[in-house]
Amino acid sequence: MREVTFTLDVEDHGARADTPRAPMITRQVIEALAEQRVRGTFFVVGELAHAHPDLVRDIATAGHELALHGWTHQPLTTVAPDGLLDDLRRGREQLEAIAQQPVVGFRAPTFSLVPESQWTLDVMVAAGFTYSSSVLPARSPLFGDASQPRVPFRWPNGLVELPCPVATFGRPAKPLVANPYLGGVYFRVLPWPLIRYGLAHAGDDEALWLYSHPYDFDPDEPFRARPELGRLGSRLMWLGRSRMARRVARVLDGTTATAGPPLGEIAAAFAAH
Ligand SMILES: [Zn+2]
Repeated sequence: MREVTFTLDVEDHGARADTPRAPMITRQVIEALAEQRVRGTFFVVGELAHAHPDLVRDIATAGHELALHGWTHQPLTTVAPDGLLDDLRRGREQLEAIAQQPVVGFRAPTFSLVPESQWTLDVMVAAGFTYSSSVLPARSPLFGDASQPRVPFRWPNGLVELPCPVATFGRPAKPLVANPYLGGVYFRVLPWPLIRYGLAHAGDDEALWLYSHPYDFDPDEPFRARPELGRLGSRLMWLGRSRMARRVARVLDGTTATAGPPLGEIAAAFAAH
């Protein structure tokens, strides 16, 4: 049976500052995972960790791996070379200090590791990271790099990359666009048989992981249009949230797949072989 690792990108998606929903929802996710005896990887935005050190401690106490999701949630394509090393180092050291565990994993906001931002790979290594989970190896409306492999690989500087799982649906002769089916809006909105199909057809060497955000688990957040996402994008950001927790449990419950270890353990095993 395939193993799938749970990952959560702990970020505030711009909910009003006086109603910080991300920490509240993250704690609900921690509770649900405890009931399912699942350990995963939590990629936390540095600013959010700074504002909520208790949350970081709760994640660590529950046995999960802590990793960094940028100091701010800015895509790597728009960060300036000047401050990036300081930001990543500060973010990593802060998590280590609060959680009392080594922090070696980095995930770029919105999978923004694309050819034009690959200069950041050396910065990640200099900041002390040993693995990245930042590449979407498919074409995508936001960021994606279809030239990258779908299996774990090493960048020339030694950093291990665990690319985002993608599935190609449709007939081989006429495949639909490869799809990051195990996370976010795709995971919430795709018909369940397609999720199951993707898992059943995943390559043996792929590292499979779910990716999610606190808002994915938050059906009670009042809807509001997000001008930067457009009308459809705003609707999609809310669609299917009420089924998210159930779907996560279903992927990990041992019928379709079973829960894998935190990504840091997968990266270490890959680096050692
Ligand atoms: Zn994010």
